[in-house]
Amino acid sequence: TCGPNAQKYGSSIFKLTAAYKADTFADKVNLGVGAYRDDDNKPWVLPVIKKAKAILANDEALDHEYLPITGLPEFTSAAARLILSPDSVALKEGRVASVQTISGTGANHLGALFLSRFYEFNGEKQVFLSNPTWINHLAIFKNVGIAPIYYPYYDPKTIGLDFAGFVNSLRNAPKRSVFLLHACAHNPTGVDPTPEQWEQLADVILEQGHYAFFDCAYQGFASGDLDRDASAVRYFEQRGVPMLICQSFAKNAGLYGERIGALHVIGSTKAEADRVKSQLSVLQRSEISNPPSHGARLVSMILNDPQLFAEWQRDIKTMAQRIIDMRDRLFDILTNKLKTPGNWDHIVNQIGMFSFTGINAEQVNALIEKAHIYLTANGRISMAGLNSNNIDYFAENLDKAVRG
Ligand code: PMP
Repeated sequence: TCGPNAQKYGSSIFKLTAAYKADTFADKVNLGVGAYRDDDNKPWVLPVIKKAKAILANDEALDHEYLPITGLPEFTSAAARLILSPDSVALKEGRVASVQTISGTGANHLGALFLSRFYEFNGEKQVFLSNPTWINHLAIFKNVGIAPIYYPYYDPKTIGLDFAGFVNSLRNAPKRSVFLLHACAHNPTGVDPTPEQWEQLADVILEQGHYAFFDCAYQGFASGDLDRDASAVRYFEQRGVPMLICQSFAKNAGLYGERIGALHVIGSTKAEADRVKSQLSVLQRSEISNPPSHGARLVSMILNDPQLFAEWQRDIKTMAQRIIDMRDRLFDILTNKLKTPGNWDHIVNQIGMFSFTGINAEQVNALIEKAHIYLTANGRISMAGLNSNNIDYFAENLDKAVRG
């Protein structure tokens, strides 16, 4: 059912953005956007970031020397505590090798590169990715000679998780396979395993000796609670699953363009983690030499100052809550006001910025062509593109598209 226009707009998020920009219709809506927007549809500089920037601007002692190859140590250690918790046994035992990276993309790349060199693959070099996943995962792994293959994840019939398919694939994969897992707020579906499902996943992963490649791009941004969004990662660490974590501060600190992130590789001993860190340092040297300093200084200041940290948590709640409010309102309009055919529970059950609406490519086309509402051909919408000014307009047109 993929119409020619779905292809035209859906083939790339950048093409979609260009089509949106070129559209002169006053009430056009961009639901392809992958960055947070406030209720006025504007990018939002977090108040805590403004404060941290002002502190840096007034610091006469700051210079522009290179950071160490593995990054600003106060940043990487605080970032590791943020995702793994200050009580992490691996951290206490010095078993975590942390390196500052070029945001989450760089963390994924460095993690993939590291595995391509040093992981003992059981046969072919391959990585299991959720179907679907963040599209860049495919290129990132291919670039380093690791073949991406899909495991079942999203079930279009339930607009939810294909848990049985996922578990089956874990059981049938060669032992010691690498599985990429979205730590929270799965992109693009917004569908996450429940805590009980994570427990079962950990059981099978341990049984099969698999390796967990966690991608964590939305900590705090998903539920509004940093600890809650880290719970799958922390649980896996407690269970002793061999793993690494890719961490991004693009979304939760609104630092998209600063490219600030980290890679954390958990070893089984401190000696192993030290060797890993040394190898990561060699790899990083040949790729970027030294990571950029500005974002690292901002995030480090916020993570290491209790008052700024508390303020950051409030800012995160503001963003997460606006998105949750949009989900609730959209659900309410579709279900109670418009009585749109079908079940819309998934709108409120899905987590994070993105939502798979479950509409097909024809319906996506209708929204673009008839209503100037831009979204990807797979029916994914960014909740951040919705606000109090356009939510009724969107819901009414979604209703029309669904009724056909
Ligand atoms: N992983 C996932 C799942 C993402 O959605 C994103 C952002 N779109 C990233 C990684 C990386 O983003 P960045 O490089 O901007 O941190």
